[in-house]
Amino acid sequence: MSFDPALIKNANFIDGTWISANSGETLGVTNPATWEPIGEVPNCGRDETKKAISAAHKALKPWKKLTAEARSEHMHKLCDAIMEQIADLAALLTTEMGKPLAEAKGEIALGVKYIRFYAEEGKRVYGDTIPSPWADRRILVTKEPVGVAGAITPWNFPNSMIARKLGAALAAGCTIVIKPSEFTPYSALAFGVMAEKAGLPGGVINILTGNAAEIGAEMCENPDLRKITFTGSTRVGKLLAAQAGQHMKKISMELGGNAPFIVFDDADLDKAVAGAIASKFRNSGQTCVCANRIYVQAGVYEAFAEKLKAAMDADLIPGNGLETGITQGPLINEAALEKVDSHVKDALEKGGSLKAGGSRVGSAGTFFAPTLIANATPDMRVAQEETFGPLAALFKFETEDEIVALANNTEYGLACYFYTSDLGRSFRMMEQLEYGLVGVNEGVITTEVAPFGGVKDSGIGNEGSKYGLDDYLNIKYSCIGGLGL
Ligand code: ADP
Repeated sequence: MSFDPALIKNANFIDGTWISANSGETLGVTNPATWEPIGEVPNCGRDETKKAISAAHKALKPWKKLTAEARSEHMHKLCDAIMEQIADLAALLTTEMGKPLAEAKGEIALGVKYIRFYAEEGKRVYGDTIPSPWADRRILVTKEPVGVAGAITPWNFPNSMIARKLGAALAAGCTIVIKPSEFTPYSALAFGVMAEKAGLPGGVINILTGNAAEIGAEMCENPDLRKITFTGSTRVGKLLAAQAGQHMKKISMELGGNAPFIVFDDADLDKAVAGAIASKFRNSGQTCVCANRIYVQAGVYEAFAEKLKAAMDADLIPGNGLETGITQGPLINEAALEKVDSHVKDALEKGGSLKAGGSRVGSAGTFFAPTLIANATPDMRVAQEETFGPLAALFKFETEDEIVALANNTEYGLACYFYTSDLGRSFRMMEQLEYGLVGVNEGVITTEVAPFGGVKDSGIGNEGSKYGLDDYLNIKYSCIGGLGL
C-alpha cells in the first residue's frame, strides 16, 4: 500500500467513535484503475442515520455556544492534521477514485483552503440594526446556525466536496452528518481520523456509509436535522429537494451541468486550447463544470481542431494515477465508461468525425481514450446530456446571436466558458449566458473565495465565499420594546 494503512477505516464515525452497521453488512470498495478490492465499509441504514443525527444534535448546543474564534481554532487544527498527512491522503484518494496523484493532492489542498477560509469567515457573521419606525423600540437582526446539517456527496471530488460543506457548516455553528458516495467512502472516513487527531468534540462531524435512499430519507424526515446539502446528479437532487420540501428544510443543491465552451474568431487560440484541455479533461472529464459542448466559430474551427488534437496527443496520458507522468485516470466504474462509449457511438452514427481516441484502453481498469470528435451537431446525445468523461465534441457556429441561443438551449445552468479578445463582446456574453459560473478566457475558475453554484436544473445555493455561509444560517429579527425611550 502506498499510504498509511491506518487511513483505511472499515467503520463509520458516529459521536466520536467507530461503529459497524447494526446488521453487520458491508459494501465492497474497489480501485477503478486495477479492479483490486480495497476494503469493506458498513452498509448502514435508517437506524444508524438516526443515531448519527442524534449525536450531531447533542453536539450542536455546545458547538454553537463556542465563540467563532474557538470554532476557528478547532477547524485550523483539523486542517493541520490533514496537511500533515496530505501525501497519504492523496494516495488513498487516488486508490479509491483514480485521479492522478497530483490532482488528488491539489484537491485536498483546496479542501483545506475552504475549511481555513470559513474558519476565518465565521468570525464575520454580521447582523444589522435597522432604523426603527417606532420611537420606543429597536430592531436587531442576528444570524444563527440552522442546526444539524446533512451532507450527501459524490465520488468525483471525494475530499473537497466534503471539505467545502463541512467548512461552512462548522464555521456557522452547525454540526454535520456526512454520507459520502459508496464508490469513495475512505477519503470521507479519513475526515473522522483527522477529526480525532485534531481533538474535535465528538458528534460535531459524523460520517456514515450505506444505503443511500434510506440515509437520505431519514435525513429529510428527521426533525433534528434542519438542512440538506447535496452534490450529485440532478435526478437525485430533485428527489432530495422534494423530500426535504415535505419537512420545509433548508437545501443547497449542486447538480449536473452541460457546460458550453465557446471560442470566437478573435480569441487567443493557444490560450483557448489550454483552457479546453484543462476544462474538458481534468479528472478525465468527470467534473460537473467540465466543458461538454465545445463551440468554435467558423473562421478558426479548423485551426482550433488541429491545435486541440496536438495538445491532446502531447498532454493526455492515461494510466494508473499513482504512477508518475499520468494525467488521465480511469473512469469511476463500468457504467460511467458505458455512458461515454454510448455518446461516442451516437455521435459517430449521426455524422461526427473521429479525430482521436474513441474506445476503451487496456484490459483491466475502466480507462477510456481521450477522444476528439469534429462536426458535432445538436441532435447528438453529447449536445444534450452531460457525458462526464473524456470526450471533446466540436460544434461549428457563425454568429454571436446564434451561439447565445445554442449555449442557453439546455435545462442546465452551472458553468460556461468563452474566449474572445473583444471587451464589449465579453460583457454581452457574460450578461446573456444563463449560467451561475462564467469563465472568460479561463478554463478553470474554482476558488474558495468565490461563490460556486448553478441556476435552472443545476441547483440552488452557493458554496465557497461569504455567500456560502448564508446557506447554513437563519436570519432572526428581534424587536426590542419596553425601553422607556
Ligand atoms: P453520480 O451519478 O455522480 O454518482 P448520484 O446523484 O447518483 O451522482 O450520487 C451522488 C450521491 O447521492 C452519492 O453519495 C449517492 O450515494 C447519493 N444518492 C444516490 N441515490 C440517492 C437517494 N435516493 N437518496 C439520497 N442519496 C442518494
